[in-house]
Amino acid sequence: MNPAGKPGKTGSLMAVEVALARLLEMADTSKIREHERLPLAQVQGRVLAADLVSTLDLPPWSNSAMDGYALRLSDWTGEPLPVSQKIFAGLAPEPLQPGTCARIFTGAPVPAGADCVEMQENAEVQADERVRFTQTMAPGQNIRPQGQETTVGELILPAGTRLGAIEQGLAASLGCAELDVVRKVRVAVLSTGDELIEPGQALGPGQIYNSNRVLLCSWLQRLGCEVIDAGILPDDLPTTRARLGELKDVDLILSTGGVSVGEADFLGIALREEGELTLWKLAIKPGKPLTFGYFRGVPVIGLPGNPASTLVTFALLARPYLLRRQGVKEVEPLKFQVPAGFVWPKAGNRREYLRGRLENGRAIIYRNQSSGVLRSAAWADGLVEVLEGRTLIEGDCVSFIPLSEVLG
Ligand code: AMP
Ligand code: MG
Repeated sequence: MNPAGKPGKTGSLMAVEVALARLLEMADTSKIREHERLPLAQVQGRVLAADLVSTLDLPPWSNSAMDGYALRLSDWTGEPLPVSQKIFAGLAPEPLQPGTCARIFTGAPVPAGADCVEMQENAEVQADERVRFTQTMAPGQNIRPQGQETTVGELILPAGTRLGAIEQGLAASLGCAELDVVRKVRVAVLSTGDELIEPGQALGPGQIYNSNRVLLCSWLQRLGCEVIDAGILPDDLPTTRARLGELKDVDLILSTGGVSVGEADFLGIALREEGELTLWKLAIKPGKPLTFGYFRGVPVIGLPGNPASTLVTFALLARPYLLRRQGVKEVEPLKFQVPAGFVWPKAGNRREYLRGRLENGRAIIYRNQSSGVLRSAAWADGLVEVLEGRTLIEGDCVSFIPLSEVLG
């Protein structure tokens, strides 16, 4: 096994982390400052606009973690205790009468004066209805103290947090019916290519169905973006110019195809003429060519057109850029190390993101890793990262990025 590729430039190719750092530098958050207040049920996938600070202690009062009996330990001499009250969840108890215990259920408030809850399995109700405790008990046992999760004034979720089911549940536990979220990022999706037609039409000679459009539109929706489906853009300069010009009120134009410095790179020409163009050759596979620029001030990202390249470059570059535009700090997906369940005999000069799966704790890869084969990603659970300049034997460690991490 030879050493991992060094970050930075790989020949004339730009390393993935360098491209990502540049994109993030250019992810201007100032344009997306407006907030909206939404009912809690509608914030899925959105970004919190203001710190969520607790206005409560959670739990608001000490409560029982068990079905059992609440007592004051100093009242217990080994003799059975009479039951003075029954406390169900949702009731407000009386203070505990000295020398007695209280029947109590999970989630019910612990009565003032009690300092211990014994579970019912360690208690015997006698014929005279007094309760005998069979085990030694410790102060505080089986009591969830007031404020153990949260206290008033504590920062619970900082602004910039992406909201999902767990954050919604947490906000609900604090009594929030609505949250302030950053307005949706407006993203126009364009598919370039004379060969493209939409599904539902009969395929003519030389034509292929447009798979990137629905892939990106649906993905962007899951990411909480407002999607402007700008359809297919033919490979010609005047139409490219005109269609880009119609997309004035968007935060990003995201296009696929036509970025391969070929003759048909009309997007690049239009950007050069009426904005700015940076064309990157990335040390990434699938992928490699990526355009970033501005058309009359509107940011444009041009992803490579092969569907698996679109997927990988969107996941690793465009997605973090879009999240950062909304003020999200942690934009890179979780990745973890797993042993490879395959061999990689030939070191490449680009970082590979193989469509793979975990099987018996090892990463295995789809048989066909061609950038045109989207089926590889449907089969996969994640992207297996093989660094540039690296070969692998089975059992060597590789990084694995679950697709579930980047899709939502
Ligand atoms: P390009 O970057 O335009 O040269 O496209 C690279 C490859 O991806 C070509 O084989 C295209 O036909 C294919 N491709 C481009 N856009 C799409 C799309 N929206 N859906 C499916 N395949 C595409
Ligand atoms: Mg094309």
